[in-house]
Amino acid sequence: PGTLHVVATPIGNLGDLSPRALETLRTVAAVCAEDTRHTRQLLSHFGLERPLVALHQHNEDAQAAQLVARLQAGESLALVSDAGTPLVSDPGYRVVRAARAAGIRVSPVPGACAAIAALSVAGLPSDRFAFEGFLPAKGAARRERLSRLAAESRTLLFYESAHRIDEALEDMAAAFGPQRPAVLARELTKLFETVLDGTLAGLLAKVQADPNQRKGEFVVVVEGAGDDADARLAEGKRLYAKLAEHLP
Ligand code: SAM
Repeated sequence: PGTLHVVATPIGNLGDLSPRALETLRTVAAVCAEDTRHTRQLLSHFGLERPLVALHQHNEDAQAAQLVARLQAGESLALVSDAGTPLVSDPGYRVVRAARAAGIRVSPVPGACAAIAALSVAGLPSDRFAFEGFLPAKGAARRERLSRLAAESRTLLFYESAHRIDEALEDMAAAFGPQRPAVLARELTKLFETVLDGTLAGLLAKVQADPNQRKGEFVVVVEGAGDDADARLAEGKRLYAKLAEHLP
């Protein structure tokens, strides 16, 4: 049988595609991609042209069976997503599960991942961390999720898009306390890469003051709750309520 190569692609800077990733993409029978147009552009930038198979949330189960059949017939395939590491807030896990269940070798070609890149520059405790991915889009569900994380002692990593970054920071400040240390990593490896640190309230103020800081893609890194979390949270909530009186 062939091998399913799970290949990380850049999160912005094309220089981050590894030589081994290039070699793998050059030699596989086909590349399974989240968005074939996007991946065709990436491949053509490197002078590669490979057959592409579309793989997204809605067809993953159906595609998995066909892909496993191709692997069993001896073809090797690559799995990529639009950016970074497949399966990390991206499609792919059903295909990987199906391949493993069929006894196919699944081998990683590691590379960029926005969460790990953010953690590596945040300067917050990194020995234990929890990746939370995207928060729910709806306000009530988002606040509920955050309230359940308020006592978490590990460093927390969140993905966020430009549409909701201020709402997310606002809800985090309310749930974790405005004084909780945090880092906002924006547009990593890209032209407007910015890494801001401070407290949740401080970051919210920076983002609200400068529309440019609301553009692009974000990772929010939040320090975990300390032992004195309850006391700090109570104090934070008190300050926040006071502050809220002066907000429009
Ligand atoms: N699989 C990807 C990875 O390994 O990081 C993540 C894909 S997820 C659909 C996209 C989200 O990742 C964005 O909304 C943002 O939160 C984060 N992200 C991706 N690229 C980024 C970058 N260059 N800088 C900051 N965050 C980024």
